[in-house]
Amino acid sequence: MVSISAMREVIMVAKRLDEKNLVNAFEGNVSILRDGYLYITPSGKNKALLTEEMIAVFDAEGQQVGGIVPASSELKMHRAVYEMRDNICGIVHAHPPCLTAYALCAKSFYSEAHAEMLWDHKCIEVVPYGRPGSDNIYIGVKPILDKGRDVMLLANHGALAVGKTVFDAMNKMESVENAAKISILAKLIGEPCALPKEEVQALLAI
Ligand SMILES: [Zn+2]
Repeated sequence: MVSISAMREVIMVAKRLDEKNLVNAFEGNVSILRDGYLYITPSGKNKALLTEEMIAVFDAEGQQVGGIVPASSELKMHRAVYEMRDNICGIVHAHPPCLTAYALCAKSFYSEAHAEMLWDHKCIEVVPYGRPGSDNIYIGVKPILDKGRDVMLLANHGALAVGKTVFDAMNKMESVENAAKISILAKLIGEPCALPKEEVQALLAI
């Protein structure tokens, strides 16, 4: 059965990401997979103004069973990513300014100076470029998911986070964006002080 609470969760997360300037009307999308149904934000609608009837809902056969406006153009990516690992129930694709800046440079975000970042997220790797909305955008996602990573960069585009819930995916996206901002600021001040090698290895192993 279609879940109203899943629709509300998609809206809640989309609004929070919008408030934090991580998405806008034309960029970013949020989805939930629950009981075989996929719930996803619509295409081209302001995330702050979403209502339940705007959330596109698809059944297990891929038929649209809810939503009065077309689904996000990244629906194919969301569908494919849910198939890649069986513990994913929520996906956030956003264009956070600092992570997207790394993505434009096709540079992984990794800091041996930031203990929490090493502990929580290890390294944020780059998925090779694929045109937005096409099947090519998610070809390189699986090898990174297979390493147990939940956040990654989409080259020349933005970032992708997955989680056991959509809130989990949102929290990770916010946390990594904040760490990327700190890293960029630290480099303006000077050279970030790397932790000792043994401590880096210990944090990466947690
Ligand atoms: Zn995008």
